[in-house]
Amino acid sequence: MGRYVGPKCRLCRREGMKLFLKGTRCDGPKCAVTRRAAPPGEHPWKRGKISEYGIQLREKQKFKRFYGIWEKQFRLSYTDSVKAKNTGEKLVELAERRLDNVVYLMGFAHSRGHARQLVVHGHIWLNGRKSRAPAQLLRKGDVITASPREKVRTSIKTVTESTKGRPVPSWLSFDEKELTGSIIELPRRDEASVPVREQLIVEFCSK
Ligand code: SF4
Repeated sequence: MGRYVGPKCRLCRREGMKLFLKGTRCDGPKCAVTRRAAPPGEHPWKRGKISEYGIQLREKQKFKRFYGIWEKQFRLSYTDSVKAKNTGEKLVELAERRLDNVVYLMGFAHSRGHARQLVVHGHIWLNGRKSRAPAQLLRKGDVITASPREKVRTSIKTVTESTKGRPVPSWLSFDEKELTGSIIELPRRDEASVPVREQLIVEFCSK
């Protein structure tokens, strides 16, 4: 599967908002959206009015980029979400329940990309076993812990110190001292910080 290796800030500028892809830099004055709000490309302001299709497409892209989800994974999530009563809310719930997202929300990582890297490198344990699947969906009662390796724990502890102010949603419990957390209940839409109108994504995908 391909991986986007281009400039992350370009993605934020395309969507016209902060997607928080770079950790601490995103909160500082060096953020590209703060410094230069124009979309990337030549003559960004000369483009015509965006169509309804274009608006819906942008919402979908924004959603995928915010969580770091690829098109194939997104389509699979959408197929699952259609079966639910509220497709849009289910789509957000499934993205929130991803292992990499939970690792980020617990403050183990500066960004979702960083969280993904921690998982892929085997630094995160799920229910007492190493898990290397960032897209794994967590369930109620699942326990997430930092690897017992001293070097890893020290490094994650340093990150948690710097992410202390970040709010942990109520559906997660987190013990900062033990570097462990668990899923208390399934996530709710109103606690997810993803800046999208999911109804537009559903309209786009149902065409
Ligand atoms: Fe986006 Fe962060 Fe870059 Fe700002 S610094 S443009 S929020 S990735």
